[in-house]
Formats: sequence, C-alpha cells, structure tokens
Amino acid sequence: MRYAVISDVHGNIEALQAVLEDIKNKKIENILFLGDAVGYGPDPEECVKTLFYSCQILLAGNHDWAVLDLTDIDYFNPHAKAAILWTKENLSEEALSMLRRFEISREVENKKIFLVHSTPKNPTEWNYLLTLWDAEINFHYFDNPICLIGHSHYPFIIERLPSGEMITHREKAKLDSSKRYIINVGSVGQPRDGDPRACYSVIDEWWVRFYRVEYDVKKTQKKMKAYGLPQSLIKRLQHGL
Ligand code: ZN
Repeated sequence: MRYAVISDVHGNIEALQAVLEDIKNKKIENILFLGDAVGYGPDPEECVKTLFYSCQILLAGNHDWAVLDLTDIDYFNPHAKAAILWTKENLSEEALSMLRRFEISREVENKKIFLVHSTPKNPTEWNYLLTLWDAEINFHYFDNPICLIGHSHYPFIIERLPSGEMITHREKAKLDSSKRYIINVGSVGQPRDGDPRACYSVIDEWWVRFYRVEYDVKKTQKKMKAYGLPQSLIKRLQHGL
C-alpha cells in the first residue's frame, strides 16, 4: 500500500501540476482525491479534468457540490460565493458531468482507510474537524483504523491511543496498528497554515507524512486578477493563509 493523497485543489492548476509532478517523481501510482476540485481559483475546468484522469478515487467537497447546486451557498462567505458563481459560468457540461461522479465517502485498502472531505459524522453538512474534541466525537463515526480528510486546509495527524489519549503530529507519524488516526492531508491549491507551498500527503503501511511543493503563485494570481476574482482570495495565496 502506497498512496498519494491530495485535497482542496480549488481551481489552482499550477499547484496541482507541481504536486502531480512531485508524486510522479516519487513513483507513486495511486492517487486519492478528497474533494474541492473547484472554487476560489482561476482554472476549475482544467483542474476537474486533470483530477478525473489522474486519480483512482475522487471525492466531492462543498465547493464541488455548490457548483452542482447540491448544497446551499448562503453559508459561504461573500468572496467564496462570488468565486462559486464565477466558477459555475466557467465550467463546461463535460466537466460538470465529471464532477457529478465524485463520491461523498469511500473505503480503501480492505477497509483500512476511510476517506471523506469534511467529517465522518456528517459528511454533507460540511462541518470542520479542527480540535481534539471534534476528533474525539468523530472517532465514533467510523470503524476503520485510519480516516483521511480535507476541508480545513490545515494539515495535521491526530493519533488516538487505545487508552483514548490523543497526540497531534505536524509533519509525519509512524503508523501503529494498535492506534487509530484522523489525518487532514492539507490543501494543494490554497494552504492556510502559513506555508504558501502546495501540500499533500503520502501514506504507506508504516508512515504518513506531508510534503510541500513550490509552484508559480504569481502566475495563478495574475489569472485571478485578469478574471476579476476577489482581491482577498488572490492575496492569501502568497501568504498561505
Ligand atoms: Zn476547500
């Protein structure tokens, strides 16, 4: 078992291509995508198609569901909402039909790993799993040893010991079959942990770890500006916030 796990690409093709190149250099063939192909960024069409042909498993996120009219966008902040409306205008019927095939959750590796965009508890309510308390609740909503998520764009590994004690790791963790894990794989296209480089994860039998990849942030920003996407969304890319 060896997977590259990517999430939250958000229409950022420069970041996606840089990450796929890095994965290729590591000779990893299985790529899992945890949702949010579109929203925020300038190249939704290209991102959907690239993901569709590169990943073995494709999950949907809240932004993907928003452009498919499957979720209400009233709870999106004004900038995210503006980007969703722009994205809807800039996706072909072909890309939309690909997006409709993205799933809400999946199990892989003989049920060893559970995949979901937001939380195991309420996958389509798009809640955030941010604290150890959120994790404690959610550990009761899946049976698998490992759960991989995206959504908050904030990479972390929460390890739960048989005693119930939890430990957080920031860069990597050795996997132990007596423990359970909730892992946020980070965001490819819009990192929010203060590091502007694209983030993704690699998981094998023994380890899970995060990788950061530089990409041409300026090129992405230039396109966003040309398309009139919100200034705050353009700015945040260079700060990774
Ligand atoms: Zn996202």
